[in-house]
Amino acid sequence: MRSSEPGPVQIVRANESDGIFQLDVAALEKILLQDHVKDMNLVVVSVAGAFRKGKSFLLDFMLRYMYNQHSDTWIGGDHEPLIGFKWRGGCERETTGIQVVNFSTLTCGAFDSQSTIKDSATVFALSTMTSSVQVYNLSHNIQEDDLQHLQLFTEYGRLAMEETESKPFQSLMFLIRDWSSPYEYDYGLKGGQAFLQKRLQVKNCQHEELQNVRKHIDSCFSKISCFLLPHPGLKVATNPKFDGRLKDIEDDFKTQLAELMPVLLAPDQLVEKQIGGSKITCKDLVEYFKAYIKIYEGDELPHPKSMLRATAEANNLTAVAGAKDLYGKSMEKVCGGDRPYMAPADLERYHEAFCQDSVTFFRSVKKMGGEEFCQRYQDQLELELKEAYTNFSKHNEGKNIFYAARTPATLFVVMFF
Ligand code: GDP
Repeated sequence: MRSSEPGPVQIVRANESDGIFQLDVAALEKILLQDHVKDMNLVVVSVAGAFRKGKSFLLDFMLRYMYNQHSDTWIGGDHEPLIGFKWRGGCERETTGIQVVNFSTLTCGAFDSQSTIKDSATVFALSTMTSSVQVYNLSHNIQEDDLQHLQLFTEYGRLAMEETESKPFQSLMFLIRDWSSPYEYDYGLKGGQAFLQKRLQVKNCQHEELQNVRKHIDSCFSKISCFLLPHPGLKVATNPKFDGRLKDIEDDFKTQLAELMPVLLAPDQLVEKQIGGSKITCKDLVEYFKAYIKIYEGDELPHPKSMLRATAEANNLTAVAGAKDLYGKSMEKVCGGDRPYMAPADLERYHEAFCQDSVTFFRSVKKMGGEEFCQRYQDQLELELKEAYTNFSKHNEGKNIFYAARTPATLFVVMFF
């Protein structure tokens, strides 16, 4: 779905004056509502983590892989600089909020040292809620507070699973940069998995909250993995003139990068985004973003219950939109602009049948919120279908030449008398 050259678009940013996160709906819609993608399911790979830890650098390699994955030389030539996400040395922050790349949608969340816990948890939460593959970019190790970021999800996951049987989130990868103990746990996925198992062990000496995160994290994500990346070399980390060319990057790093990309992005590894057990489309994702950003407007960290409610609202709304769309398309086929006039009784019969299909579709979509909550949206759907029918009927009447011709004819008769 390449439609323009790679380059990030900022879709979520913190307002400078009050720090409240804002969604750039127009920017998001420009990407996700393009005609050729809006009804497609999508894969959302998100890379989240603290600032200046090489996320953008990694995302640029991800782009290279996506564009050239059928070639053994996707990684590029020794002298090619990296383009795409703007990454740079130094300690000034560059990425705050969420950026999206117009491919299969890569999002990049970032937290930084000026952010509060609430900010970092917010960006992390938003990117986890909206992605199918969450890469948690960490430096050197998995610290306790890194795991604390997951606390919110374990609680949300518990609530969400009371409603649907499926796990609320799909894939989580801890990506550990500058791994410095390959003699203990080898670089790559295998070493990472062994390290993760050790790190997620529940021990009696741990604080109860940390024990709980560890106990519940498995139940929230369908797949959890860990990958250990070596240090890329001093030129990457410290040379201000470094522009991403391969000759300046350590061989070990490049070898592991070549292993990591297919693990994340090979076609058979891609995971389509699901919410509440159903695959969603690009168009749906816009609705979810809108619903989630609302709960991050307050000063408080969002409560898992409000996250669940926003999810339930958005999946009911997208089900209503899908059901209405189905009705509209079916009616267009029988009485659209290019169709001839139809006897009102026949039109009504079609309307009733398509209404039933539409409601059946709505009910068949897995939704959260419980029966009573969903019924409200079904009522709304039925009302909207009635309105649409009124419009179709009016349109149909407009095509009735007998009716159109009758008025002057009657007038003429009156004059004759
Ligand atoms: P972001 O803020 O997380 O997106 O970080 P950037 O991708 O902009 O990278 C910040 C700095 O870290 C740049 O100077 C990169 O060259 C450097 N860098 C990139 N990857 C790594 C890594 O794996 N380890 C180290 N130590 N530095 C890296």
